[in-house]
Amino acid sequence: MNHLAIIKFDEIFLKGKNRPLFINQLVNNLDRRLKSNGDFLIVRRRLFLEVEYSKKDSWKEIKKTLSQTFGIGKFYKAFKLPKNIASLKPFLLSFLEGKSIASFRIKTKRSDKTFSKTSWEIDRILGETIHSHLGIPIILKTPELTIYVEIATNEIFVHFQEFSGLGGLPTGISGRVLSLISGGIDSPVAAWQIMKRGCSITFLHFHSYPLTNNSSIEKVREIVDLLQAFHGKSKLTLVPFSEIQKCIITNAPTAYRILLYRRYMFKIAQKIALKEKALALVTGESLGQVSSQTIQNITAISAGTKLPILRPLIGYNKSEIISIAKSIGTFNTSIEPDQDCCSLFVPKRPVLFAKTTEVSELEKKLPIKNIFKNTLANIENLVISKQKR
Ligand code: ATP
Ligand code: MG
Repeated sequence: MNHLAIIKFDEIFLKGKNRPLFINQLVNNLDRRLKSNGDFLIVRRRLFLEVEYSKKDSWKEIKKTLSQTFGIGKFYKAFKLPKNIASLKPFLLSFLEGKSIASFRIKTKRSDKTFSKTSWEIDRILGETIHSHLGIPIILKTPELTIYVEIATNEIFVHFQEFSGLGGLPTGISGRVLSLISGGIDSPVAAWQIMKRGCSITFLHFHSYPLTNNSSIEKVREIVDLLQAFHGKSKLTLVPFSEIQKCIITNAPTAYRILLYRRYMFKIAQKIALKEKALALVTGESLGQVSSQTIQNITAISAGTKLPILRPLIGYNKSEIISIAKSIGTFNTSIEPDQDCCSLFVPKRPVLFAKTTEVSELEKKLPIKNIFKNTLANIENLVISKQKR
């Protein structure tokens, strides 16, 4: 295979002895994600990965995949040369010959500090060679082209353009979580943030169909599909929530509706998490953004749930969340109008600072046991996968 990309890691997971765990996970993920791009081979090196591939045209797709895979710090298309200066000169001259380049500089890095020449000496030798043969001016500050030369243990790598990865940890290394996704702007961003910390995700959506139309379901399917670019194939569990809502509406004070909806969402989520072997729940809550998101109400909502609830957006402003939603491509879908289950019969004056004991007492009075059981019996599971759509 005669084409090569180099991948540099972002964080090395827990460092030291656990590094192979991190690298194995990243290699497995890349193995799966790169499959559709023709023949390729991933070679593990101590501090980076090499991806060899056979078709030159594959680069565009490989680049897209690498830029959407968590755990990568940066990556580039590279050329591997024998470890001597003599091999670099003809390579660079023939590479640059005939190209119209206004200015250049050489940037050498040595991971092998025993190499006979220093980085600065190599910069100078190669710079002078190119300048004297091709006449291209050397500009150190802002050249049109930077030629990166890397003196590694057994070889020299050359590359011309670096790309930033997403950073974070490879998907799967931190275990599975269950992400509550509403179709709004926040929860897809929350799922993405947690994915970035290495979690695999099962998605969970509550809908009120047939009390509402199925627009929220369609939106969430679309959003999970968009997030596949980062996560790969995903499972989406749909929970019919209207019977539980009706029970709450008829039996509890109006001001407590939303809090009780949320408590039941978490109770159901916890049951599903157990089946999915998910270690935590994830929500898009952000402190003070809406009335159910005061500290008191968050406490009252969470009290019935034993699993940890991860709230990656808790300290984010709406504008910060929107800017991430735009950058990951979920924003436009999120703002499409829908009939969300929680917008049904929303109280005019919801309670702002609920007491946990109060909410628990209200919950005890609900004739909801059988409804809860029926709801669990009627969940639906979808697999969201590009290939199958
Ligand atoms: P979002 O933008 O994600 O809808 P939000 O700021 O509108 O969030 P809420 O509507 O109060 O806030 O919801 C808080 C969180 O509860 C959501 O981020 C999501 O994790 C969860 N949630 C709300 N509604 C649903 C739903 N229908 N299905 C699944 N999870 C939901
Ligand atoms: Mg919402």
